[in-house]
Amino acid sequence: MLGSASADRAAASLPDPAAAPPWGSSVPPVYDVLFTHIEDNTPSGPLGSPQSRQNYLVHRNALLAMGTLAQSYEVPWSLQPDWKILRAALLYEDSAMTANTGGKNFLRFLREDLGVVIDPHSHENGGYNYTDVAHLLDSLGVGGTTVIGGHIWDPALPQFQEWDRYRVPVAGLQFPWAEWRGDVLMGSGTPGHVNDPLVSGVWRPRDRDHYFEDEETGNIVAVGQWRGLLSGASELHQLYVDGTVPQALMLTCSEHINPSKLIAPGGLAALEDTLIAPLAALRAEGIVELTDFTSLIDTWRTNFGSVGFVYDPETVTGVELASGEDVGDPRDPRRARGADPLPHAWLEACGPNPTSGRVEMRYQVRVGAAFRITILDAAGREVVRVRERVEAPGSHTVDWEAGDLPSGAYYVAIAEVAPGLTGARMSHGQPRAGAIKILLLR
Ligand SMILES: [Zn+2]
Repeated sequence: MLGSASADRAAASLPDPAAAPPWGSSVPPVYDVLFTHIEDNTPSGPLGSPQSRQNYLVHRNALLAMGTLAQSYEVPWSLQPDWKILRAALLYEDSAMTANTGGKNFLRFLREDLGVVIDPHSHENGGYNYTDVAHLLDSLGVGGTTVIGGHIWDPALPQFQEWDRYRVPVAGLQFPWAEWRGDVLMGSGTPGHVNDPLVSGVWRPRDRDHYFEDEETGNIVAVGQWRGLLSGASELHQLYVDGTVPQALMLTCSEHINPSKLIAPGGLAALEDTLIAPLAALRAEGIVELTDFTSLIDTWRTNFGSVGFVYDPETVTGVELASGEDVGDPRDPRRARGADPLPHAWLEACGPNPTSGRVEMRYQVRVGAAFRITILDAAGREVVRVRERVEAPGSHTVDWEAGDLPSGAYYVAIAEVAPGLTGARMSHGQPRAGAIKILLLR
């Protein structure tokens, strides 16, 4: 019989499966991708030379070993090869070489037998482009993803890869009859990775000059790489725990495993101890989910409602909440508010003012949440809802066109929208603190 006093005591000493996990409230996992680029100097030596074939075999074995290790932990791993190793595979994968991979080339074996995801990678500066690399993957029986496996994002650099070409199908340079349209950007990098952007999240880059701004209608998505999966994912997890980032927004992280690590003596064992096993443990705690870029975007669509978000600590300026120090902006309403709770967002500027119709509004978000920007009349009644959406910490702008509103004084206000509540929550009456008065003169 259950229910005796001793049984109750025994039950009470067991962890309650429904209780909150030890790290605090249950928050979404940080979505992590582990990947490896094979650069275009691999295999070394001219294709067809004995040195090239030998070096190819070294990489082949190392990558197969890595695939086996990843599978043993059920840790997804993405391989993103460039042009040369794919040409080498077409050249070298004969029946003798494929004897240990079930008669398949090693890429097919990685994908079909070890569950490795294979995406193209290309620097696009050797006479071929992503479409050509994707076409070689097709030829090897491992094509199909639409991930742009790394690119130089900064239009000010000569190496800029013009990612926006892929808004429509792009023809190959080597295979001009082939077409491919990449729509998932990962690894937004700088040459030599000396100044890679430290961002997390999934967004649709607005255009080449506004790469880190989300535009809902964009048909290419980007995944923020953040830094170092273990420490990085824990940092990002903390942003959920302390409420800096709302749980409705996706946070992402990725880490590159250099093939030289896989080839070095003892390299794979070190990788297992320092990365693969600890990652599997973080996953077991629910802190991270391990995935590939294509699946990550599927999850973003289904679990996060395709809400674009860029977490960029660089743009979260003057918000050292704990220190309470001067934040440097005289318009910061916290200065005037004394001991009032700090606002999660405030308007910074609206202009031109007076305006004949069009107004650009700039606002600062300190704590990511859903916000609504409204135009109120002089009596404090809402006359226009300009924007309502989830925003990340940082500076944002929105344009408003007054349409056929009559001339007069209006107020621009920003308010946080509590999840699940509608306009009823907006208080009417006096324009709220921090509203900016604008004069419409027609
Ligand atoms: Zn590369």
